[in-house]
Amino acid sequence: MADSAPLSETELTRETLRRLASKKIPATPDNYRAVYFEILGAPAPASFPERELKGLLAGLPRNGPEQLRFARQFEAGVAKGSWEGIGSALSEFLGKSGSESHNWPSLIRELLLQLETHHAGLTAAKKKEALDRVLSGSGSPELQLGRLQALMRSWSQNAFIDRGDTVAPMLDAVPAPTPSAPAPAPERSASSPSSGWQLGTNELREIIVQLLDNTLSIVLRDSPDLAAEAAEISRSVHAAQTAEALDGISERLKKLSYRALFVAEDQSELSAALMHLVQLIIDNISELVVEDQWLTGQIKVVRDLILQPLSLRRIDDVERRMKDVIVKQSSLKKSLHEANDRLKFMLATFVDRLADFSEATGDYHSKIEGYSEKISKAGNIAELTEVLDEVMRATRVVQVNAARSRDELSTMRSRVNDAEEVVARLQTELSSASELVRLDQLTGALNRKGLDDALEKEIARLKRQSGTLSLALLDIDNFKKLNDTLGHVAGDAALVHLSKVVRETVRPQDTLARYGGEEFVVLLPNTSVEDGVAVMTRVQRELTREFFLNNNEKVLITFSCGVAEIRNAEDPYEALKRADGAMYLAKRVGKNRVVPA
Ligand code: GH3
Ligand code: MG
Ligand code: MG
Repeated sequence: MADSAPLSETELTRETLRRLASKKIPATPDNYRAVYFEILGAPAPASFPERELKGLLAGLPRNGPEQLRFARQFEAGVAKGSWEGIGSALSEFLGKSGSESHNWPSLIRELLLQLETHHAGLTAAKKKEALDRVLSGSGSPELQLGRLQALMRSWSQNAFIDRGDTVAPMLDAVPAPTPSAPAPAPERSASSPSSGWQLGTNELREIIVQLLDNTLSIVLRDSPDLAAEAAEISRSVHAAQTAEALDGISERLKKLSYRALFVAEDQSELSAALMHLVQLIIDNISELVVEDQWLTGQIKVVRDLILQPLSLRRIDDVERRMKDVIVKQSSLKKSLHEANDRLKFMLATFVDRLADFSEATGDYHSKIEGYSEKISKAGNIAELTEVLDEVMRATRVVQVNAARSRDELSTMRSRVNDAEEVVARLQTELSSASELVRLDQLTGALNRKGLDDALEKEIARLKRQSGTLSLALLDIDNFKKLNDTLGHVAGDAALVHLSKVVRETVRPQDTLARYGGEEFVVLLPNTSVEDGVAVMTRVQRELTREFFLNNNEKVLITFSCGVAEIRNAEDPYEALKRADGAMYLAKRVGKNRVVPA
């Protein structure tokens, strides 16, 4: 076989199956693979454990953009069956969350050192100002960490240049060149005024490499030619031993940067145009489905999403909630279709029965007409008796039929009524399923989105009518311990129990929302802060009466709570912040208490 022409795919398949059959080997996927590659004369590649990897994927945390991005890349790798894809997702993620980026202790040590060190052109006030700018900037913690590290790098470089011969103590502060970076080139060391220049070049080179490998590779994802050029330049920069070698690359880098700019501009325009399109569709759908409750919840969430700056976390959250609603709605729609079909079938049978009945009575009428003619023509009593007997028989038959039809019709009618009720109930459920996007799936309390809407409504009401609104923010005490000792499932059940007790204790016009993991917010309209404290204390008391039962064992749930009353035209989120402050005070002074803000 080795000498002959390679087998086609079909011939290979046929030969594999033939061998399996002749050797009486069961044709399991593994046996098939083994024989297939044996014929091919090549080692069988390791099989790809897609199912296990998908299980792993389902359990990956997705908190924050880095983790989300990693999960998506991992998912793409699994979908393609590509170990390479999974590997590069892993190394990119580990590269980002590696020891350097999360090494807070060394960063703080570095910060203290840099604050005490004298830097050229940098006063203490300037340093504080720069530090303040970084710390108060927006962005994820990872982003802030990165900025802080960059700031430290820039200070340490200043100190380096300024102190000339006192270089040694600062060397620790300068990020060490990566192990793969080549050693400073001897001819450059000889001609450069100080080794500081060389260190700066090394660092710059590494930054360029990182920029090309990490940032540009993302921008150039859909431009393979440019991505290949970027990778090529990155390799050349990495390998460049001398400043001259670097100079030689700068022209290529310039060209690449120019072309990448076009790509980035295109991408930005593309994303703006797509957003515009989504907005157009959403507006159009909401116009079209004004009457339709099925979609209103989803439309509102998507519209809110695109009106704010996009973030992967928010998109992911909306996607998850949307999926829940879609699953629920599609199962409801199926039940609704079935119920409608049943109803239609019943109505058709109903009509058939009616037709039978009227046919039977119509037949009877024509018979009676015939009998009356016979009666009028009857010559004697005997003839008359005969006709009357026939009339009696026909009447009895029609009576029995009528009674049976009446019973059947009334049973049918009540079944139709039942079916109609089912259809109506399913339709209501379908409408409210759309509202699920506003509810927390575990506890049924409003979620953050629902809370935003409820707050908006309450604030509008406050503006229309005079009145008060208090916000209570509660956080379960020692919830981590409860989870650790009783398990996460019991923790979930405790959250459900707490929500139930709160809802049963507060007034119907009060609203419960889940603010975060084990934190809840209660909106208390027309309630002063003192009354709010009293309400929440009542909830605490109720929790000592209505215990949470875990495997029939009583577990006491306590919480700490802060209550704030919205001041004149105060932003409700400011008031929530005050309630949060009061809640932390309650924690600090011993937990299980309610503190007014
Ligand atoms: P403290 O009294 O200071 O509030 O302590 P704590 O343990 O309640 O607070 P901490 O913030 O340390 O822990 C909160 C815990 O709540 C950690 C997290 O695992 C758990 N948690 C958050 N959301 C959920 C959830 O949906 N279900 C379960 N079972 N646990 C959750
Ligand atoms: Mg908490
Ligand atoms: Mg807690």
